[in-house]
Amino acid sequence: VTLPTTTSDVLIVGGGPAGFTAAIYAVRAGLSTTMLIGMTEPGGALTTTTDVENYPGFADGIAGPALMEAMQAQAERLGANVLYDDVTALETVGGNWAAITEDAEVHAARAVIVATGAAHKHLGVPGETLAGVSYCATCDGSFFASQDVVVVGGGDTACEEALYLAPLASSVTLLVRSGAMRASVAMRDRVSGDARITVRYDAPVAGITGQDKVAGVQLVDGETLPATGVFVAIGHVPRSELAAKAGVSTDAGGYLVTDRRSEHVTATSVPGLFAAGDVADPTYRQAITAAASGCQAALDVQKYLTAL
Ligand SMILES: Cc1cc2nc3c(=O)[nH]c(=O)nc-3n(C[C@H](O)[C@H](O)[C@H](O)COP(=O)(O)OP(=O)(O)OC[C@H]3O[C@@H](n4cnc5c(N)ncnc54)[C@H](O)[C@@H]3O)c2cc1C
Repeated sequence: VTLPTTTSDVLIVGGGPAGFTAAIYAVRAGLSTTMLIGMTEPGGALTTTTDVENYPGFADGIAGPALMEAMQAQAERLGANVLYDDVTALETVGGNWAAITEDAEVHAARAVIVATGAAHKHLGVPGETLAGVSYCATCDGSFFASQDVVVVGGGDTACEEALYLAPLASSVTLLVRSGAMRASVAMRDRVSGDARITVRYDAPVAGITGQDKVAGVQLVDGETLPATGVFVAIGHVPRSELAAKAGVSTDAGGYLVTDRRSEHVTATSVPGLFAAGDVADPTYRQAITAAASGCQAALDVQKYLTAL
């Protein structure tokens, strides 16, 4: 790889809340900042949703795409250079980082923040695009207050979603595909100890019914459960491959491992490569937590570059 003549102080891969917040802090710290935000989801996961009601600062809520446009405009006004390219490889060359894009362009930087997010898994059944299908109870649960909802999944996330919804919804049915849950014993106990949650085993979903919004969930055995909300919680796939190929350790779920309990919480196992947002967060996966870790990553990079 031949490096270009200009080298940014920091290169940020990803254009979600983590990436833009990292850029805002980096440029304000005087670091020259290039962002490569990808072509598939330039503003990140929030561009795929409508109302965001839990991001502080917006009394009446804000549309996901509008929030992300505002974050990008803020980062650009302050001086971040935002490019819409997908990065296919990160390599070290003579003490600097090279980010190679899909079009074989090379961008050079002294440090990198990976903020590539996580994709949620889809059921892949008919009706999954109907209004009323959600992948995040924390985000959308309150829209289903006093309604009958179904949660699909058998892992810790599905249990968490069911527990979150239990006090809000009028009924919560957890559909587990097989005869047992994969969730930890502690989570299983919490779910089975909650009288508001009904667990159905051996209940694979065949489809989601309804005209333009959800009316029910059809099981493979033909039974249809009436519901106005369906929460699909069958797992997330962190987009960690890029950083993993550059040597960053991942956990069992594929999330990038960061230092977390140190003075540089976003540092990875590879010096100069930092991680922020959902790609390194199996637990919270919210816009505000992603933004917060973007801030931490920029401050960590600033310290790292000063120490070099
Ligand atoms: C439908 C839906 C509704 C949600 N509602 C809410 C809500 O109401 N409130 C809330 O707090 N959270 C909500 N969330 C969660 C929230 O969207 C995420 O927690 C947050 O977007 C994570 O931010 P991030 O910056 O880590 O990653 P993302 O927002 O996922 O951004 C990742 C970015 O990385 C880019 N990228 C990936 N790979 C590459 C590559 N190789 N090269 C270049 N760029 C790359 C993508 O294009 C994208 O721009 C919702 C999520 C979904 C899916």
